[in-house]
Amino acid sequence: MTAPLTFIATCDLVALTRGRSMRTEDYPKRRAAGVGWVPADLALTTFGDIASPNPFGSLGDLRLVPDDAARITLPAVAARPETDVVLARLAEEDGAPWRCDPRTALVDALATLEETGLHLVAAFEQEFTLSTAGGVGGAGAGRQPGAGGLALQPGAAAPFSLEAHRAVEPFGTELVQALETQGLAPETWLPEYGDRQYEITVGATDGLTAADRAILVRALVRDLATAHGLRASFAPLVAPDAVGNGVHVHLSLWDRAGRPVTLDASGALTPAAGSFAAGVLAHAPAVVGWTAPSAISPLRFGPHHWSSAAAFLGRQNREAMLRVCPIPTLAEGDALAAANLEFRACDATANPWLVLAVIVRAGVDGIRRGLHAPPVLDGELDDVPARERERAGIMPLPADLESTLAAVEADDVACRWFDPDLLATHLAIRRTELDLLRDASPAERCERYARVI
Ligand code: GLU
Ligand code: MG
Repeated sequence: MTAPLTFIATCDLVALTRGRSMRTEDYPKRRAAGVGWVPADLALTTFGDIASPNPFGSLGDLRLVPDDAARITLPAVAARPETDVVLARLAEEDGAPWRCDPRTALVDALATLEETGLHLVAAFEQEFTLSTAGGVGGAGAGRQPGAGGLALQPGAAAPFSLEAHRAVEPFGTELVQALETQGLAPETWLPEYGDRQYEITVGATDGLTAADRAILVRALVRDLATAHGLRASFAPLVAPDAVGNGVHVHLSLWDRAGRPVTLDASGALTPAAGSFAAGVLAHAPAVVGWTAPSAISPLRFGPHHWSSAAAFLGRQNREAMLRVCPIPTLAEGDALAAANLEFRACDATANPWLVLAVIVRAGVDGIRRGLHAPPVLDGELDDVPARERERAGIMPLPADLESTLAAVEADDVACRWFDPDLLATHLAIRRTELDLLRDASPAERCERYARVI
């Protein structure tokens, strides 16, 4: 059965998927023109207000132009019919790219990498917290546990346990099946360390498709959770003392001949990958201003959170901002093709298109400047005394959102990665949110984000 409606969507600066639908029957003839959109919608905060001032005001008209390469069907559940969802770029009325479109920003960033003779392969790992509706994130719709839904009890199952896996069945099985049916290449579905925390990983692919997948995976997870009377929150923290929900971005570089050039045969970073990593670390505070941009994002960082305790390159180290991942040599296959770097200072309050765009822009800056590979920390961060950290290439991350946003503005190179209006809107949104949350406790802050994200 074809879904009656097709929802044409963008992912905005607070990482929410918003758009408009049309009859699927009309879609073939209407898709070229897409649907209308309003510039000021880009200034929406997580909490539904439009950040003010913003560069757009009440003026202007745009089109959401769908890309059929990023199309899935959300499955029918009970009384809810299927809905087709297709991601779109934001364009002017004549189809020219809109200067503030986040998806075009990634396309442009990937093109700058290709100018260096390299291209990116990427994959997003995403963690989220599942709770009974009315728990994390407030009241949800759908079936209630005990009435054919899931009887997931907070704290009932141990970390990584089979019991935690089984506790949310058939959610996991249905999710993996739906991801497979929709071409989103599921790899691993796992109970995570945190209370009611789960993780879904999908296969690596080109940069644009990887970011599209990250957005569509979130949509499917949230939709399926609601259908089971649950709520899925990808918020970086659902409570100040909770285990963080991370988004980890795996990256590898490939040359024009299709050869992997992330690591060499000795396991060291190639010169190009070394410069790329050095660029990301050199711009770390500004990069984090886009990859972990909410008022609660900095709370997820910090020592022993296994998120990203500082800006450094580590080997296998889960406190690193960038980690050289191990290459399993257990199975046959080209080990160098499996080599990748993992960027860990990211969460789901960030738009996946912009996440990859800033990482690539920073990496390309490192390549263009011929930066040397950063030192690799082989051991634990705690074993490096404070006075030796700078020399070891370990820099602190901004401690709060105010300083993160100030760091974005202070980085002249990073300020030119996007259109000035996109940058101004991003800063206005996040400062408006800080203002709205000024008197809120850390617990209230986490709860406000967890209700939406
Ligand atoms: N939950 C951790 C984070 O906030 C990640 C744990 C892991 O390595 O999977 O990033
Ligand atoms: Mg994990």
